[in-house]
Amino acid sequence: MKKESVGLVETQYFNMDGELNLESGEKLNDIKIAYETYGKLNKEKNNAILICHALSGDAHVAGWHKNDAKPGWWDIIIGPGRCLDTRKYFIISSNVLGGCKGSTGPSSIDPKTGKQYGLDFPIITIKDMVKAQKKLIENLKIKQLLAVIGGSMGGMQVLEWCNSYPKMVRKAIPIATAAHSSPQQIAFNEVGRRAIISDPNWKKGNYYNEEMPKDGLSLARMIAHITYLSYESMYEKFGRRLQDKEEYSFDFNLDFEVESYLHYQGESFVKRFDANSYLYISKAIDYFDLTSNGSLIDGLKNIKSKILVISVDSDWLYPPSQSEEIVMALTANGVEVSYAEIKSPYGHDAFLLEAGQLNYILGDFLTDTLVQDVMAYEVASIKENATLEEAAKLMMDCRITHIPVVSSENTLIGIVTAWDISKAVALKIDNLDQIMTRNVIISRIDESIEKAAEKMKKHNISSLPVVDYEQKIKGLITTDQISTLITRY
Ligand code: SAM
Repeated sequence: MKKESVGLVETQYFNMDGELNLESGEKLNDIKIAYETYGKLNKEKNNAILICHALSGDAHVAGWHKNDAKPGWWDIIIGPGRCLDTRKYFIISSNVLGGCKGSTGPSSIDPKTGKQYGLDFPIITIKDMVKAQKKLIENLKIKQLLAVIGGSMGGMQVLEWCNSYPKMVRKAIPIATAAHSSPQQIAFNEVGRRAIISDPNWKKGNYYNEEMPKDGLSLARMIAHITYLSYESMYEKFGRRLQDKEEYSFDFNLDFEVESYLHYQGESFVKRFDANSYLYISKAIDYFDLTSNGSLIDGLKNIKSKILVISVDSDWLYPPSQSEEIVMALTANGVEVSYAEIKSPYGHDAFLLEAGQLNYILGDFLTDTLVQDVMAYEVASIKENATLEEAAKLMMDCRITHIPVVSSENTLIGIVTAWDISKAVALKIDNLDQIMTRNVIISRIDESIEKAAEKMKKHNISSLPVVDYEQKIKGLITTDQISTLITRY
């Protein structure tokens, strides 16, 4: 087992109450969502990062299940010391609605019939997948995610999160993805679906407890796999080398290494994936379109999160032009957006492989946390003419230890703390004016949390009022809020 892995992990299950209204107008009951978490949720619940998976992924993103031959699918970036550092962040991942890795999907039992849903499973969309994830996040009592991250179809979920629930996402990283599926992407998906549907064992989706449509699903995976690689990486990996032979066979058996490799990919895929889930999930990808009346600027106008868009230079399935289109639309909407291109010969798959670049780019973006990302926005304050008793009562009622004192124009003029109240009692002072500190150390919303923490350490205080340039209070930042986000190991 690798040194920086999160170690042994287990999948957990969330049983959703009530029904989920789907985008198609249908409803789904008795939904179960499989999920995994790594790291600890802090007291303020502001260090949670959600990972969204691609078409054939699952909730097992990092660490090892008992008897695993390899770790979770994004283990290269998750764990102590990696960019998604589990000593700082609480990482959550879940299997999508419609999937076959523990979440409710077409291979689940339909409570109405007692049999697998098959094609009775309703059509689901990326919006529905995200809606189900939101229920899971709410169940974990998390009001806002520090970040949502995902590649390919995972990136579509990231964009959907930002669009549907703008207040719930502080930062977002869509990788190697698109804001709407292109005709080429839809075309490849349809060829994959036809391969499954044409398999005589598919039987209109009613193959459970019988022979699986292995040939069709395997073929679908072989086609898709080609699109995940690049011309260059295929040449590099296989050349025109023959598989276990010196000469051409001059028949239709496998000659080339690349053929053998693709067959191996197809055969191993059918052991871990359900053919009907492949149909439903690939259809959800095809339907994904965040444009509104043909305009992506209009479609993305609700987005509030700070976004880092990442593409891969050799990705021809989700080419950088699709990422650039997202960046342009977000920029036009005044969203704080940055863009990075991974340089890699690996094509679309690079988002799963380029550990060094991913750790560097994601780490840089995530550690760039500002005071506004973690401060409390609702702050109790008192007027300068308030009494000591009023200040003490407010502390008790709101369970706080620091209260900014404001003028009649609501500008900051002092701070009073539980420590000051104790001092007043000890010295028998009954005047707020005499005990409050007037020379207040403040912070600004765009200050880095490292800077704010340094100030607090230097002055031996645990809280800074956050003010604008007119000295009006915007929030309050405390050592508690940032302690788990700044770590010095
Ligand atoms: N660690 C405790 C705390 O943070 O309040 C006590 C340490 S310190 C000796 C207490 C004093 O610092 C109190 O008189 C309080 O008014 C003052 N103080 C607290 N926050 C302040 C701030 N942001 N700016 C200036 N003084 C502050």
